[in-house]
Amino acid sequence: SRRVKLFGVEIDALRMPEVVSQIRRQLDSPETKTEYVVTPNVDHAVILQGNPELQAAYADARWVLADGWPVVWASRLLRQPLPDRVAGSDLAPALFADATEAKPLTVFLLGAAPGVAPRAATEIQKRWPHVNVCGTYSPPLGFERDDAENERIVEMINAAAPQLLILGLGAPKQELWIARHHDRLQVKAAVCAGATIDFLAG
Ligand code: UDP
Repeated sequence: SRRVKLFGVEIDALRMPEVVSQIRRQLDSPETKTEYVVTPNVDHAVILQGNPELQAAYADARWVLADGWPVVWASRLLRQPLPDRVAGSDLAPALFADATEAKPLTVFLLGAAPGVAPRAATEIQKRWPHVNVCGTYSPPLGFERDDAENERIVEMINAAAPQLLILGLGAPKQELWIARHHDRLQVKAAVCAGATIDFLAG
């Protein structure tokens, strides 16, 4: 699909329905690679400048979507218009709403404070009965620097065998984490979704 270069970041010119159908195709594909979504905001552009590892994480992302209106407005000012914003916090519910009895969805929630993701799981399953939250985990402070802990998290997710991983670790932690570990994950797709697990918990 068409990409627009803004603040040094290549952003997909896609609307929500196209993104949902592309991710659904990935979820159903026999491919074993974990494809992931990042949703940059204008403040990410600033962090990206001095952070080559984060730039690489963005470059590896299969979908790069405009999280907020300021990104869309900037694209219009620069005469490379993006059609819409596609926020990570909207994308997770849109993917859940796309699940049906014939096409159910299994999801793992990684992140948010202890106790929040299990509450989100209950809400998700109440609201979208064709979504099965097959696991949740709230990593301890500083986990990202602990190799053994990261290995345990990868194994925990693979053992739960979700199709979709929702990462709610905040930016840029979630983008760096998925870029470092997606090679060993056996999930079809992952969404870096900021505070979405908190929103879903209500
Ligand atoms: N979070 C986490 N582990 C961390 C840091 C943050 O699970 O080490 C969670 C935090 O509890 C919240 C989410 O990440 O649920 C998003 O945090 P924030 O709002 O700061 O991120 P943003 O939405 O700005 O990316």
